[in-house]
Amino acid sequence: MKHKISDISGTFTLNNGVKMPYLGLGTYMPKDSQEVTNSVRFALDNGYRLIDTAAIYRNENDVRLGIEASSVPREEVFVSSKVWNSDQGYDKTIKAFEKSLANLQMDYLDLYLVHWPVVGEYKETWRALEELYKQGKIRAIGVCNFLKHQLEDLMEDAEVIPMVNQMEFHPYLVQQELIDFCQLHHIQYEAWSPLMEGKVFELPEFQKLAKKYGKSIAQIVLRYDLQKGVVTIPKSSKEKRIIANADLFDFELSEADMDFIDAMDRNHRFGPNPDNFEWSYIL
Ligand code: NDP
Repeated sequence: MKHKISDISGTFTLNNGVKMPYLGLGTYMPKDSQEVTNSVRFALDNGYRLIDTAAIYRNENDVRLGIEASSVPREEVFVSSKVWNSDQGYDKTIKAFEKSLANLQMDYLDLYLVHWPVVGEYKETWRALEELYKQGKIRAIGVCNFLKHQLEDLMEDAEVIPMVNQMEFHPYLVQQELIDFCQLHHIQYEAWSPLMEGKVFELPEFQKLAKKYGKSIAQIVLRYDLQKGVVTIPKSSKEKRIIANADLFDFELSEADMDFIDAMDRNHRFGPNPDNFEWSYIL
């Protein structure tokens, strides 16, 4: 299936009709809080419209400052945050959400995600997200790090099918079966660590592709995400990189090169495995 990719303001449409920008900025693990504020401002001033944060990153406040410092009004930004593992369960999730809103000083979120599938908790967490969604406090709800069996289990009791599944995704971890499953259920796939936390720059295959297309490695790998229909949120703290990473709308990867990148898959994770993640782990 060919996905329509136009420019930096382009979107994919979620299963409830909400339009989600397909290119955004990640904000995990900055050096300091000023770095997040600056990078959010750089990104927005250069056309990005999706910002990914999470309660556990403890930077929602810095994200807000970045949005305020930018030339873009809040309504034009797609703000995404996540409920952390120790806050899962119905009541705790409602409270965690209110805290995130307070940190962001916003009266709604565009997307709120369950950060990890905490065993024994995620269904009640999801019920809280459904409630907040029905109340109009969140425009779209979704999950992160849910494998097929966890999605199936969640959907057995869910009233609302998740709109997004944010997963580790890059050339070494494609999980095509999971992508196909999400597509079948109209769950938008979103990539975290799309640049392999920076390790993609060492791969000779990408050095070759970059040369072939006259583009940078980051542009090739992020273009691959978009052509696969995957929302992508590369993180950078540097204005030049933030701008360059989004300069990927003037070329198209051939089908053969898309297949070539798919075939690099090693089912290799840099992050935790959702089946045996240490739930109590606090960053
Ligand atoms: P990425 O794959 O986005 O890689 C980020 C690294 O790449 C940084 O070190 C950055 O350095 C470097 N980089 C970015 N652009 C370039 C470039 N053009 N040239 C060279 N180096 C570059 O990793 P993340 O783990 O940050 O993933 C992206 C986002 O996904 C996170 O920030 C977070 O928002 C989200 N996430 C979600 C998770 C979940 O469980 N739901 C888990 C992990 C991440 P520099 O800043 O110096 O440019």
